[in-house]
Amino acid sequence: MKPAAAPPRTYRVKSFGCQMNVYDGERMAELLGDRGIAPASEGEDADLVILNTCHIREKAAEKVYSDIGRLVLAGKQAGKQPLIAVAGCVAQAEGEEIMRRAPAVSIVVGPQAYHRLPEMLGQAVQGKRATDTDMPAIAKFDALPQRKKRGPSAFLTVQEGCDKFCTYCVVPYTRGAEISRPFAHLVAEAQKLVEAGAKEITLLGQNVNAWRGEDDRGRRTGLAGLIHALARIDGLERIRYTTSHPNDMDDALIAAHGEVDKLMPYLHLPVQAGNDRILKAMNRQHTAESYLRVIERFRAARPDIALSGDFIVGFPGETEAEFEDTLRIVDEVRYAACFSFKYSPRPGTPAATMEGQIAPDVMADRLQRLQARLAHHQYAFNQASVGKTCAVLIDRTGRDPGQWLGKSPWLQSVWFEGDYAIGDLVEVTLADAGPNSLRGVVTTPA
Ligand code: SAM
Ligand code: SF4
Repeated sequence: MKPAAAPPRTYRVKSFGCQMNVYDGERMAELLGDRGIAPASEGEDADLVILNTCHIREKAAEKVYSDIGRLVLAGKQAGKQPLIAVAGCVAQAEGEEIMRRAPAVSIVVGPQAYHRLPEMLGQAVQGKRATDTDMPAIAKFDALPQRKKRGPSAFLTVQEGCDKFCTYCVVPYTRGAEISRPFAHLVAEAQKLVEAGAKEITLLGQNVNAWRGEDDRGRRTGLAGLIHALARIDGLERIRYTTSHPNDMDDALIAAHGEVDKLMPYLHLPVQAGNDRILKAMNRQHTAESYLRVIERFRAARPDIALSGDFIVGFPGETEAEFEDTLRIVDEVRYAACFSFKYSPRPGTPAATMEGQIAPDVMADRLQRLQARLAHHQYAFNQASVGKTCAVLIDRTGRDPGQWLGKSPWLQSVWFEGDYAIGDLVEVTLADAGPNSLRGVVTTPA
């Protein structure tokens, strides 16, 4: 038992890692808000701090312990310790260890159990430490409150978990098996998000295109059916989805890119590596060639589609020649944007104990060369966009008064000037391109 604590009045959620964690962080904030607990203001010490952790790479667990240490130190200086909760995938993977090593932590809650946070908080206030790392994913969604007002772009988790078991990845262990949320729940949540001001919704899932459900007429459908239904919501202007797996692509989803105006011309389709021996060792279950064929089909359905992906360099046993196959596939696809990482051995995954772990300096060199190629193609994509006219959804203010920043349909950052507000969709002509953003000139009057 810990000493009893006063019920928290303020909270702070610190989310690390993927967009699904951002979504989970928002839902936790909504749960707390429903119980009258307010977000701590900038610079204020919160009564409750939730570390919403990521386990995908690097020394994620180490980082959690150092964050906890910092919070305890700050608490000592302020004369008041916050309640500390650890959520997310590190909580799922190392919950017991966290409770043992970090007595300052009151709550450990996994990504499928955070709907129980208020109840666990009740226990923590009484001095009882609480852990829940069960995996009843649908129960979680059913127990969450209605969506609250956010910015013009919202995330909507439609699918969770993964059955693919890539040999480097912890997700199947921390997020559990693939589950799809029911169609009707998703349409209802999307409707609420739009009523709360969302103009763009990004559908999220570890394998979002593995989503399956029954539509309002009882027909089995994949993600395309859901997208068609969401496109009928008045006031929703843009639909995106991420992250897809090449093997879960179906004809209907590819065709939707040519049929649904609200579906943005952007596809995040990780390949990880360009060499078939490495892809096999990764258990990706696709080849470089089969991946390229999928891309070809998307380009046929939507010729201007922007492509993005994820890459891992230095997978165990990767030779220089095998790494060069990754550079080749990058040149072939000409990605508009990408994420690239050094391979990070994750405890408990098959790749962590494979022979031929790559030296850090070799990995660093490969990452640097890969990122130079990716940057080249991103800049080329931006330059090729100059002269196009498109709608930009404003999501931020710029540096100077009257300056606005938003996203093009191809997810590029575009800035321009005028008398607007966050959430406006403004038609601009793309006038100049930089490596990471473009300047637009408004083509419609303010
Ligand atoms: N499900 C998606 C897929 O299959 O591409 C992505 C899930 S994962 C959260 C996001 C990215 O993290 C992966 O695409 C991969 O590039 C990277 N990743 C996962 N495990 C990794 C590891 N052990 N080391 C380095 N990068 C890793
Ligand atoms: Fe991880 Fe592979 Fe599943 Fe993606 S498909 S979440 S990389 S196991």
